[in-house]
Amino acid sequence: MALGFRRSAREDTRDSNKGHSAPTGARPDRSAVLGEVEELGIGMFWATDAEDKLTFLSQRALADLGVEADTLIGSPVVKLFQDVEDEHATTAQRNLAFKLRARSKLDEQIVQVTTARGHTRWWRINGRPLLDAQGNFQGYRGSAVDISAQYAYETQVARQSQVDELTGLANRRKLKERLTAMLAAFRVSQRSCALMMLDLDRFKQVNDTMGHPAGDELLKQVASRLQSIVKDAGEVGRLGGDEFQVLLPDMDDRGALGELANRIVQSISQPYQINGRRAIIGTSVGIAIAPYDGVEADELTRAADMALYSAKETRSGIFCFFTSELRDAASKTAKIGDRLRDAVDKGDLRLAYQPLVNPETNEVKCFEALLRWHDEEEGNISPAHFIPIAENDDLIIKLGEMALRQACTDAMAWPETVRVAVNVSAKQFVRPGFKKTVAGALEASGLPPQRLELEITESVFVGDLESVDAIFRDMKKLGVRLALDDFGTGYSSLGYLKHGHFDKIKIDQSFVRGCTENGDINPAIIAAIVALAKALGMETVAEGVEAMDELQLVRERGADLVQGYIFSKPMTQDEVIARFEGENAEFKPSGPPRHRSERITIFRKVGLIHEDHYYDVILRNLSKTGARINGLAGVPVGTDVVLDLGHGQLVVSKVVNATENSQGLKFETNLISDGTGGFMTRHRISPYSLAEAGIPLAALGAGAFPLAKWREANKSVPKFIQLELSAPGL
Ligand code: C2E
Ligand code: MG
Ligand code: MG
Repeated sequence: MALGFRRSAREDTRDSNKGHSAPTGARPDRSAVLGEVEELGIGMFWATDAEDKLTFLSQRALADLGVEADTLIGSPVVKLFQDVEDEHATTAQRNLAFKLRARSKLDEQIVQVTTARGHTRWWRINGRPLLDAQGNFQGYRGSAVDISAQYAYETQVARQSQVDELTGLANRRKLKERLTAMLAAFRVSQRSCALMMLDLDRFKQVNDTMGHPAGDELLKQVASRLQSIVKDAGEVGRLGGDEFQVLLPDMDDRGALGELANRIVQSISQPYQINGRRAIIGTSVGIAIAPYDGVEADELTRAADMALYSAKETRSGIFCFFTSELRDAASKTAKIGDRLRDAVDKGDLRLAYQPLVNPETNEVKCFEALLRWHDEEEGNISPAHFIPIAENDDLIIKLGEMALRQACTDAMAWPETVRVAVNVSAKQFVRPGFKKTVAGALEASGLPPQRLELEITESVFVGDLESVDAIFRDMKKLGVRLALDDFGTGYSSLGYLKHGHFDKIKIDQSFVRGCTENGDINPAIIAAIVALAKALGMETVAEGVEAMDELQLVRERGADLVQGYIFSKPMTQDEVIARFEGENAEFKPSGPPRHRSERITIFRKVGLIHEDHYYDVILRNLSKTGARINGLAGVPVGTDVVLDLGHGQLVVSKVVNATENSQGLKFETNLISDGTGGFMTRHRISPYSLAEAGIPLAALGAGAFPLAKWREANKSVPKFIQLELSAPGL
């Protein structure tokens, strides 16, 4: 029906063509060419007279509109061409009538036309006013292209904007679409894709104290820093508020991702200039990788979110990779929070004291107070774990005040030459009323202020720096000493040191531990920090010294004081007092001659693959370079095995020493740090490989790697004796 209608319209047009011939002087062959151009769908043509009445409309145009020529010819052109009725149309697109009246050129003007059936279509028209020899206006001659499909798409895109207006980055919708499309495509091509989730620390503080325009400006600067780091490696977007996301196709190297996350954190944490004022914020990063941690966009996003939550709230790390254990981390945190509150109320928390010793004289100069909590259910919980939980609410204020009072009181029982150092959380330090707390603790104990040292980390330099400066001045007025703790781990801006706020810098353990290994650049960093500190009149402390070779190195590099297991582990107040009462007030170094690769003591069931048999074993300790396992008997030294640490982490290893039921393994490739004190493999075996081996991808679930299933399918003859894992003594 439509086809027949079209044909008749076309025939009509041919007729009308005769009646309304093309512009004066046009030769017939030209109009044939135009006809062909039209047939090819490249364009349509139109003409008006001096009264703006339509005098010509080419065949194709009439066909598209489904109208007869004589219904339009002779009627005002604005009846055919109408301004676009769309909120997204620009004003330039809205004043066709005006332009016609002004006899201006029509340049790529988008107009709306209505077909005989009442459908709206969009044409892009061009037109030129035609003047006679005397300069009198004769009418328009023009062309038109139907752009309906493109226009509908573009307006839809405009409507569902893909861009975050403030920063110009991709917005939430675009990121979601990209991630969904990418994951779908990557499933087919078996590629990986990492998702980083970022959330700014203390952004709200800047927004509240410096105003919303300053907050907006800060977000823009954050966006451009992020982009300059990520560059072409991925797509950066803002989800809204202070949340950002980075999509990184073809990234599954957790070593490289950790480094990138670190660089992002470092860059975001550098000071910002906003309307002449300085502001600093921090950020945490959660990382999830497809297909290991999820194969759908929602799944992967949730995994990255959980990792971010963990990086922020439950661990002190700045970035965190998703692991399936994180799923219950949130509820565990809440539980620990409740128990901690109880423990604080009941006064169950204790302080331990670790000496800071002059390595030349072995004389103790100071003790650092460290909180200790023994929970009946969970055992000893590290302050590195519970302090961030306490920081989630006001508990840290109570806890901090308690520690401060107790430490000052305890120090009164020590010789007058020995100071006490108390850790102060950034949240506690910047709270109004902190000055009063410190003054109160000094007064209640009678401790002279110069014997009290407050250890704070770089994370206090966050938000509006003028108010932070004011707190420092308050502390100086009180006469207490200030130490910058964990130097080198956070933002490491030397600017903080130059302000002269600090009496002491504590070089973080991560520079000290293993600094004697060949090719390590840390000795140079230690030397540089010491030199800088000396130049600025500050004392230096090397933290975490465990081995004799490390002690020698930090002494040579000029560290004034040493704190670490080499002199003493944290001790009770009674032990401290006993020391001073006894003969051996001096602390002599004692420890292993050389640094050994850090071992984490664990007790975890893992898998061990030898030839095609899968064994259950217990992991007793783990370091970057090797592990010790229990649970098998009769494994000869030199055996090649693969350790299955779970979640696709397979480590090719060799048995390097063995007792009857325990073996030491050396890894072919070192593990890397997971950002929160543990180790992990750089790469994981892809679930695609497992799928190829017969385990369907859908059955895997996020983060699940049922290699045990593989074992079920491979019931081969074991070479070694599998011991009962629950048996005591393993
Ligand atoms: P920090 O202030 O850097 O304290 C030093 C940490 O290193 C302590 O861990 C200490 O036991 C440990 N350490 C010292 N020497 C060695 C060594 O040779 N080898 C090893 N492996 N570790 C060594 P701890 O007690 O677990 O405390 C962890 C962190 O918890 C502290 O780090 C501090 O940031 C925080 N913290 C502890 N007590 C308090 C407190 O009362 N208030 C606040 N806000 N934070 C606290
Ligand atoms: Mg400390
Ligand atoms: Mg420290």
